[in-house]
Amino acid sequence: MNDCVFCKIERGEIPSKKFYEDELMFIIADIEPKAEKHYLMIPKKHYKLLADMTEEDAANLAKCLKKLSELAPSLGLGGGYRLVINQGDDAGQTVHHLHVHVLGGQKMDFPKL
Ligand code: 5GP
Ligand code: ZN
Repeated sequence: MNDCVFCKIERGEIPSKKFYEDELMFIIADIEPKAEKHYLMIPKKHYKLLADMTEEDAANLAKCLKKLSELAPSLGLGGGYRLVINQGDDAGQTVHHLHVHVLGGQKMDFPKL
């Protein structure tokens, strides 16, 4: 997608340090961190929602999650981490390219009602 910020980062058109990259995904730090450690794990294929996934996309996302679990200690997440995938407007999804927020480096809490 030409005007997608994450596709632009993947192509190197917007500079961003990639902490990890393989054929399926890359990991960058969120530009507006919401935790001591806040990464974005971004599948390279552009699609917006889990509902848009093909079977292959789903299998690839599972592979990405497994790889993330292996990388976690080297990302400073050895104490644990939280994954968030915002889906649509009510969740506050602002970038319409599926991505997994990876939050940690501190004790996490849930928002209070
Ligand atoms: P969403 O709100 O869609 O779940 O998450 C999008 C995230 O992307 C936000 O947390 C936002 O801070 C992050 N973000 C948006 N633009 C950029 C950028 O150019 N570079 C980086 N590293 N993160 C970005
Ligand atoms: Zn994209």
